[in-house]
Amino acid sequence: MVKPYLLSLLPLGFISLQVSGKPLNVLFIFTDDHAYQAISAYGSNRNKTPNIDRLAEEGMLFNRAFVTNSICAPSRAVILTGKHSHLNGQLTNGQEFDGSQPTFPKLLQNHGYETAIFGKWHLKSKPTGFDFWQVLLGQGPYYNPPMKTAKGVKKITGYTTDIITDITLDWLKKKRDPEKPFFLMSQHKAPHRNWQPSPKYLSKYDNKDIPEPKTLRDSYKNRLGPASTQSMTIDRHLSAHDLKLTPPHNLNKIQKAAWDAAYGPKNQLFKKANLQGDELLKWKYQRYVKDYLRCVDSVDENIGRLLDYLEESGLAENTVVIYSSDQGWYLGEHGWYDKRWMYEESFRTPLIVRWPGVTPPASQNSQLVQNLDYAQTFLDICGASSPQDMQGASLVPILKGKKPKDWRKSLYYHYYEYPGAHDVRRHYGVRTDRYKLIHFYNIGGWELYDLEKDPYELNSLYGKPGHEKLTTDLKKELASLRRQYQVPEDTRPVTRTKNTPKPKN
Ligand code: CA
Repeated sequence: MVKPYLLSLLPLGFISLQVSGKPLNVLFIFTDDHAYQAISAYGSNRNKTPNIDRLAEEGMLFNRAFVTNSICAPSRAVILTGKHSHLNGQLTNGQEFDGSQPTFPKLLQNHGYETAIFGKWHLKSKPTGFDFWQVLLGQGPYYNPPMKTAKGVKKITGYTTDIITDITLDWLKKKRDPEKPFFLMSQHKAPHRNWQPSPKYLSKYDNKDIPEPKTLRDSYKNRLGPASTQSMTIDRHLSAHDLKLTPPHNLNKIQKAAWDAAYGPKNQLFKKANLQGDELLKWKYQRYVKDYLRCVDSVDENIGRLLDYLEESGLAENTVVIYSSDQGWYLGEHGWYDKRWMYEESFRTPLIVRWPGVTPPASQNSQLVQNLDYAQTFLDICGASSPQDMQGASLVPILKGKKPKDWRKSLYYHYYEYPGAHDVRRHYGVRTDRYKLIHFYNIGGWELYDLEKDPYELNSLYGKPGHEKLTTDLKKELASLRRQYQVPEDTRPVTRTKNTPKPKN
């Protein structure tokens, strides 16, 4: 039954009703840099995330969810607009988001929804399309964050992941309009660099070694070259700021004293206070990943708080809960931290959707989906239509357990931020079910991977005999995607430095 207050909204479209007859709400929980490798529902061998797993047990987990441009602000802009970076204008982190353009929150407001965003925004311009917002300034700190509203900036004391959840719960309990359905975005800074845990998790993992990924000691052979000229290795680029401790390597007197204060002379680690080579890499990996996982522990705990409240309040039955991150992340794979590449770990991102009565419980989906699809999916869930110029596709049929026959067979990716942090060269490419072709157009070379035979992407087949037809087909597919998405040719000059690898093909 449509409630009387909804009748006035009907000319704008029908708000979706749950089986119970109540309008559907959406809670979008979003993190920054959360690797699917650090979620137990995705098979993590490093940690457990019981609350994210709860969502997966009751909903649908996408094991082939990708981004279009693996970096923070551009990913957020793609989600808001449903358009690739070259159309929404947010190519890199350095730009300011044009908040005057159409976005899904604005369309939902017009559709009768109350919209709110709390936590990390990271788009420089003021949030638009939200009835309520309270956001971190830029990246925001892990502790005592200043937070901005339309009225100004206020510092809040505590741990940021807990605070963002507190604000989200406070709005749900006291501030929202109970007569309207809501679209609520609860967005964390965690587990973004430099991975500062909550005090309650500081000693978790102290007595265990976190498994290393198979490619931690990647030599970057058999590839074009950009993989070897980045600056994001755990071995060489992770700083004392990242590690929150000077690495135990060639310590001077003062550093040795700090090491002593941190671990004490009786600690086994202290005895190895002058680590070299692989021993030093192992130490840095453990130090880095443990702090990262501790930040994830707070995220998971706080997701549990939100899920519990939805149950207690009776909202759970008519609230779709979605968990995702702005992109994937390297937990030591290829020797790296950070993101940016079209290689799987940063190209992919977690996506789990719990839609009571609709998503088959504990279901997994392997269709090629992208953050480009989120805006249209959100609009579709809420019963609003999508503008023609949005470039993704609604995931609603998939969420209902269907297998659309005309679903996309390939994905387009494009990374722009070079010159920029971590020295990852600009590239675009295509990924199909089995293959990936990457064009490092900034350098003028290509890589080709067979993901079935080479899942870790260690051997580029580009230019090797026997792959001519495959290469031609993939180049055609790539050109077709670039036409479909209206990607302009990049006219910026090729940038070369002394570290720029020489083109091989
Ligand atoms: Ca990010």
